Amino acid sequence: MVKNILSTVSNFFVFFLLAAFVTTCCITLFISALQSSIGREFTEEEIVVAAKITMINVVLISIGMAVIDYLRRKFTVERPVTKITEATEKMMAGDFSVRVDSVSKFAADDRFNEIIDAINKMAEELSGVETLRTDFIANVSHEMKTPLAVIQNYGKLLQDPALSEEKRIEYAKAVTDASRRLADMMTNILKLNRLENQQIYPNFASFDLGEQLCESFLQYENVWERKNIEIETDIAEGVKVCADAELLSLVWNNLFSNAFKFTEDGGKVSLTLTADERYATVKIADTGCGMSAEVGAHIFEKFYQGDTSHATQGNGLGLALVKRVVDIMQGEIGVESAVGVGTVFTVKIRRNGYGLEENR
Ligand code: ADP
Repeated sequence: MVKNILSTVSNFFVFFLLAAFVTTCCITLFISALQSSIGREFTEEEIVVAAKITMINVVLISIGMAVIDYLRRKFTVERPVTKITEATEKMMAGDFSVRVDSVSKFAADDRFNEIIDAINKMAEELSGVETLRTDFIANVSHEMKTPLAVIQNYGKLLQDPALSEEKRIEYAKAVTDASRRLADMMTNILKLNRLENQQIYPNFASFDLGEQLCESFLQYENVWERKNIEIETDIAEGVKVCADAELLSLVWNNLFSNAFKFTEDGGKVSLTLTADERYATVKIADTGCGMSAEVGAHIFEKFYQGDTSHATQGNGLGLALVKRVVDIMQGEIGVESAVGVGTVFTVKIRRNGYGLEENR
């Protein structure tokens, strides 16, 4: 406060001195011009009277100019600066709902509006990040609760010494399944976190995409045999891509596991690989439950599970991971789906990894 008053007074005083200097120079020039035009020197008496009047004029004009400058600065500089400072202080205190009104173009320098726009955008971005963070914590806590409750309940039941061998095996299996779910979720969260914070740098190498797809697909052989799912594959030969094989295998594993999870017994899953010079295109189609457009719009969000009937077999992080990897690879992913008909995921991967350096 004292600092503000001192700065206002010193600004006022500096401007006053400047205005007094300029006014004195003007009046001196005027007097000497007057003397030469009337062709004689002024008498001492005339000079004393003129000096007094001039002194009063200089002081009054300078005070007037300093007051006008003070008011100009107050409205055109101090007001917007105070607004901006108050908004940033609120943001520092964690309130990201704050928005600064723009100032009138005529009353202030228009560059203040540029700063205000930037601050409003920053507040918007920060509030988005904050919502994501709180949603994320709420989701993780919620997802952890269910398996932990299962482990607790079955753990208690297992303490009964009179438990039959059959029940003991059943309960122990429930505990193992729930702890595996927890471990899977933690692994996915860690992977996603590392991918989002760019702690994973794509490790490019040239490899045969068709071979990788087949290897990954074959891991589900026991599932398609158990569920009697028909398989159809059409994989172009010799399609080499320069990409991060480990990251890409995350994509295929998640898409295949979803295709088999959401396809009922007796359904069909097909895998196609085609390529042109720039892109390799992988299509994974299933005749499963499909999804509505409403569900389809959210599937790449963290923890989103559209189909709750299979909720225990996942945690809604798989497609968020897939999307992040595809983005890092500067590829594309699309989905077409119809309820009760099936789903087709299409992934396009750049063949030569060109442009990936920008992400490093
Ligand atoms: P999760 O499979 O663990 O639920 P994902 O992130 O892999 O999580 O998928 C999110 C949601 O997308 C699923 O809950 C489901 O509603 C929908 N989904 C994904 N793949 C398919 C598919 N092949 N068929 C139908 N729905 C799907």
